[in-house]
Parts: sequence; structure tokens; C-alpha cells
Amino acid sequence: MRSPLSSRGMLWWCDACHTPVLSRECSSCGATTRRVMLTPPGDARPAFPGDVALVNRVYSSHFGSPLVPDGHLALLNKVPDTDRMEEVIVGGGVVGAIRFVPEQGFWEAIPRREAFGLLAPARKFVVVDEGAAAVISGNSASVLAPGLVEIEPSVRAGDEVFVLDRKGECIAVGRARVDAGDARSMERGMVVRTRRTSPSACIPGEATWDDAVAANAGPIAEHEEEAIAFSRDAAKAHRLPVNVSYSGGKDSLATLLLARKALGDVPILFADTGLEFPETYENVGKVAEEFGLPVVRAEGSEAFWESFAVNGPPARDFRWCCRVAKLQPVDRVIRDTWGECLSFIGQRKYESARRMASSRVWRNPHIPAQVSAAPIHHWTALHVWLYLFREKAPYNRLYEEGIDRIGCFMCPSSDLAVIRHVISRYPGLWEGWDAKLKEWQQARGLPESWVETAGWRVRGESREEDRHR
Ligand SMILES: [Zn+2]
Repeated sequence: MRSPLSSRGMLWWCDACHTPVLSRECSSCGATTRRVMLTPPGDARPAFPGDVALVNRVYSSHFGSPLVPDGHLALLNKVPDTDRMEEVIVGGGVVGAIRFVPEQGFWEAIPRREAFGLLAPARKFVVVDEGAAAVISGNSASVLAPGLVEIEPSVRAGDEVFVLDRKGECIAVGRARVDAGDARSMERGMVVRTRRTSPSACIPGEATWDDAVAANAGPIAEHEEEAIAFSRDAAKAHRLPVNVSYSGGKDSLATLLLARKALGDVPILFADTGLEFPETYENVGKVAEEFGLPVVRAEGSEAFWESFAVNGPPARDFRWCCRVAKLQPVDRVIRDTWGECLSFIGQRKYESARRMASSRVWRNPHIPAQVSAAPIHHWTALHVWLYLFREKAPYNRLYEEGIDRIGCFMCPSSDLAVIRHVISRYPGLWEGWDAKLKEWQQARGLPESWVETAGWRVRGESREEDRHR
């Protein structure tokens, strides 16, 4: 696939150290590393304890056994899907995925063959005879009733299953077409539609993230050096007061560390929409204190609610929120504080197709007083995380809980999977937002489902779309 987003080849694995590596050679043991083929955009990130718990919960509830073994490093790679789907990388192989099914509101396990060696399923498998096994493993054929030897009794139509031969080896994965009870009495017809996946060798072994930092010492040092040089050049070229745009997210934290190394202490510019997570406010305070940096705050809350009263909630296709609650307040505070400034921003090209095409220094038309520069433009999420781990940087606790994008808690661009998580984790925070949605829904005579199924997130009419950067 020749997508500009394709970063195939960006990730390798050291089978001696059992860690991901961002180059062809392991910095720790010197071994030649093995490529890991990810689905583009391929911006893989560490699976934090909250992520591992989710993956293991999803696999355990379906197959009766967790996917990620204790003590092993795992990565997640977000892939395109209707709502949310994450590839799971263990032992240098893509061993499966978890996918959020918005209609039913749950995560499903979608294993690859390589998962079998990690989890030894207690449930959800079928066994086929020698003849069928040869055809299935050779031609990715479906499992047909005549070749079926055994079907685990809990299998239901629509279930993901492992297909085993009589020796108990996994020869395929796929989706059951019928219930176990019906399959037993069938004489012909399809029992499991198998799924073709590219092989992705999984060689499991225990390691820590400190091991991963050591295995990546070379590429991380190179990226750091380049980003520092870029930051110094940008400061020299523009000769403006410098600050770092800090959101409480990992990318802006890495940018802050780099800017300090390049230019010494610089103020933090924080766009406070009033809709941040409590952990984000805590993190901004902690970072400012730990590094002894002044915080220049752009307040957007008042403007947000004024606009809400007129426009209703922001939506994916009606994102007035960024301009109103972030960009305009930032422009105002920059003019009041510095007149004009150079801001270092934690923007990365691997975040999206649009960012892939964006430049490394730019002016946002909504913030004419600001020149923006992105020292970590070429970094993947894994570069950022390994750098933060190496620096023992105070990153936002939200990441450990499975929230991988730090922004407004009710962002209309969030997946339903994330919104469900926020509702259960922050009931009080969500209640306030929910009440505002209901007010608008009732005043406008909109159906209740507009609130209940998060229909407010899409207007479905052609409206202005804010292209915030
Ligand atoms: Zn190694």
C-alpha cells in the first residue's frame, strides 16, 4: 500500500532483548532487529497497564485466557475502523486486535493465528480433520461441516474462533457462521469463515520499558539532537519571544523537554478550555512546578459556553470549539503578553494524513501573532514515549488508564469507545455536560437518542469545519 502515511519499516523488534526498536540494530545488545509490519499509519504506542488490562479482559471473557502474558511488553497500534480498533503487538508480532462494536457497546477480540501460542484458548475453537486441515491451511478455505471433528459448545454464530487440527495446532482463525449445537447436526455448509492474515512472527519473552529505552538509546539520542538543533535554528531565524504550547499531553511534554535543552527555561502556554480532565490540570501544575516555569494561561471557558448558547454543542462536522475556546484566546493572550511569539508545538506528522502533509514551521490563520514550530514533527509515538521514559518525565496519569489522546473530556471527535470510558470513569464530569446537552435537545425538540447515543457528535449538515492545527 503506497499511502503517504505508510510507516512500514518504522518499527523493529530485538528478539534477544524482547523489546521494540526504532532502528535496524539494537542499541543494547547490538543484534540485528526484525521488522514488525504494522497497519498504516503505524503510530504504535506502549500498552500501559490500563490498556493491557482491557486487552486481557476482552480476550479472557471470550477465549477464557488473557492475550498479553505477565512481564511482556505490548504495543497498541490504532487502525482505521468504524469506531475504534487497536492492533496488539506482543513478541514482535501483531497477534490480534481489539475492536469496539458501537452498536452493542462492547470490545471484541479479533485474534490472529499468532495469538494461539500466547493464550491457549479454553473456549471458542473448532477442530477439523486432516483433509480439511490441509485445504484450510493451504488455501485459506472455510471450515465446512463435513471436515468438522469438534466444536467447542459455547461457540455461537458470529463468534471469533481458532481453527485447530487434530494435533491441537492452530491452522487458522475466523468467524463462526453457526451455533455449536447447529453445527453438530449439519451435513453440509459453512461452519467458520476463515480470515487471511499476513504472518507476523511472535517470539515472546519478558522485558521492561527500561530495557526498551536501552535498546533504543541510539535512535532516541539522534532524534533528540536533531530536534534540539531544529529548535535553536527556529529561535535564531525568528528572533521572537519563545514559549512552549503545553496541553498536558505526551507530545507537548517531549517538546517542552527539548525546548528547555535547546534554549533554557521557557514559559508554558496553556490553552485552558475549562473542559480538560482533572489529571490534565494536575499535570500542568506539576510540570510547571517541577521545571520552575511560568504558565501563561489562555482562558477559553467563557467563550465556549457563550458559543454553546448560540450554536449548541460542537460536532465533528461543526467544530467551532477549537477556534472559539482555544485559538482565539491563545491569540489574545499572545498579543497581550508578547505582542508576537514563537511557540514550540508537539505536533507530529504520524498523527494523521493531514499532519503528514503539514510543514514543520507555520502560521495558523486564527493565531496571526504566533509562529509555530514542531521539533518532534518526524517522531512516532514510540519515539516520544521512549524519550519520556528515558527522561523520567512527569507525564499525564491519564495515559496509564487507557486514554491516549489528551484533550477536552467531551471532544466530539472522540471515539464512542472513549466516551463510554469517560462516562464510567468521570460520572460527575459527564453529568454536567449531559445536562447541557439535554437542555439543548429539549429546547430544540430533538429526539432523546440525540443525547443517549451521542448523536450530537455529528450534525450531518454541511457546516463550517474548523481546521485547527
Ligand atoms: Zn537487543
